[in-house]
Amino acid sequence: MAKPRLKVIPLGGLSEIGKNMMALEYEDDIIVIDSGLMFPSEEMLGIDLVIPDFSYLLEKREKIRGVIITHGHEDHIGALPYLLPQIDAPVYSTKLTQGLISVKLKERKALSGARLNVISPGGSVMLGRFKVEFFPVCHSIPDAVGLIIHTPVGIIVHSGDFKLDYTPVSGRPTDLSRLAQLGAQGVLLLLSDSTYAELLGYTPSEKVVGETLDHIMAEASGRVIVTTFSSLVSRVQQVIDSAAKYQRRVFIVGRSMSDTVHMALDLGYLNAPDGILARLDELKGMPRNKIVFVTTGSQGEPTSALVRMANRDHRQVHILRGDTVVISATPIPGNEALVNRTVDNLFKQGARVLYGKVAQVHVHGHGSQEELKLLLNLVKPRFFMPIHGEYRHLSLHAKLAQSVGIPRENIFVLEDGDILELDSQGGKVTGQVTSGNVYIDGLSVGDIGSVVLRDRKMLSKDGIVVVIIAINKQTGKLVGRPDIVSRGFVDTRESKDMLDESRDLVARVLDRGGTRPAEWGFVYSKVRDTLNRFYYEQTKRHPMVLPFMIRV
Ligand SMILES: [Zn+2]
Ligand SMILES: [Zn+2]
Repeated sequence: MAKPRLKVIPLGGLSEIGKNMMALEYEDDIIVIDSGLMFPSEEMLGIDLVIPDFSYLLEKREKIRGVIITHGHEDHIGALPYLLPQIDAPVYSTKLTQGLISVKLKERKALSGARLNVISPGGSVMLGRFKVEFFPVCHSIPDAVGLIIHTPVGIIVHSGDFKLDYTPVSGRPTDLSRLAQLGAQGVLLLLSDSTYAELLGYTPSEKVVGETLDHIMAEASGRVIVTTFSSLVSRVQQVIDSAAKYQRRVFIVGRSMSDTVHMALDLGYLNAPDGILARLDELKGMPRNKIVFVTTGSQGEPTSALVRMANRDHRQVHILRGDTVVISATPIPGNEALVNRTVDNLFKQGARVLYGKVAQVHVHGHGSQEELKLLLNLVKPRFFMPIHGEYRHLSLHAKLAQSVGIPRENIFVLEDGDILELDSQGGKVTGQVTSGNVYIDGLSVGDIGSVVLRDRKMLSKDGIVVVIIAINKQTGKLVGRPDIVSRGFVDTRESKDMLDESRDLVARVLDRGGTRPAEWGFVYSKVRDTLNRFYYEQTKRHPMVLPFMIRV
């Protein structure tokens, strides 16, 4: 009898940036790698977050031996608060990652009952038939790891998110010697990060950002406000180091930033010289050139401290003329407009703003082409599967693999939900599982259907028209002319005649039915259809038409 094959099932992160999640399944054992979220794109109006569809995992929940998290970024941990309450599986991660997971779970009230386990880089854990070993990788967050997974069909290497910075701020550089050793031993499959597969050459070292920050702290005559991701602990470290050199004190502003900073200090991932961190009540009277703020808001998030400051809406901190604001992050695709608006507002308040396009205040955490090739060359996998990226990134990464000698038929470019069945001889996609987006809107999970999204899109594009129809309680006949109120559709003064005409049209349509009181469902669709057609003819737009009936 043929030996069972291993199933590799990406549930998120392929053909998209974000919500990374993958399942490995061998007979009765499943391990899950990462459980991330994605920030919504501009078409997903009013949606706060997007997480993967976990249906497949829920069906097989009793087989799940563990959830392994490669590092503490939102696109790897953000869906845990929604996954863990539904499956009873332990979570394995490094120490800092566990700290960030706890902060996240606590925020969403999902911490109690969670079984969080710490594995150090270099350590390993047995989960059913899988032995999972962590190896350190360098990324834009400390304590990130890649995985060496020993399976019954062979060794799998999962890169996590990585780059090859030889002078990282904190944490260790990627463990190349362990990978080379495995390459000599024989690796069946490499799964590798494709996020920056478009970029030639090497990703610059974090060191470059440190130098820029030093420069800014030295020459700014006013206060310096640095904004970044709260999880970018190494960037916060760079700010603290720079501030220390120029005798500035550091104020951490905003709850999520200060939660993360305190956690990282407690766990020893951040080092702050005594007395450098200050409380906001110490701000008064301090010379401006001795002040640094660290805050969130690098993505233009409306509730973040920076955006509040930019809009003069922050209780304690206002932007002053002469402040230097450093945006130390690149906008996540979809957030560009929000970020640009924030930058504009900061300039309006009289600040000098430094961001990616005008200064080297950020380097990203993913390997460029030469680094990806180096990893392929060291690991020398028999089979290769690009992960983490849009389809173009995966395709380019596949090309890179071919260029270093991996035969085309040994490269699998998959999409979310594909089932790749693999053994030592070969692999192929044998089917699909349910996958896709689950939308999270405020506190509700998953009940935002495509209809709701379509409505929101329609409202934002063409506005809304409310038709108020007064009907006589006894006779069922129309009383007076219907009222029409519109928002976001046309300029009501300019288009007064057209709107008036539509009121008459509704009156005529409703007047036709004899003496019998009209059925509301009928009136509703009649009015809606008539107006949809009329407004489209007049304006080439499709406002949402909402008839309301009042009985008088
Ligand atoms: Zn990452
Ligand atoms: Zn990532």
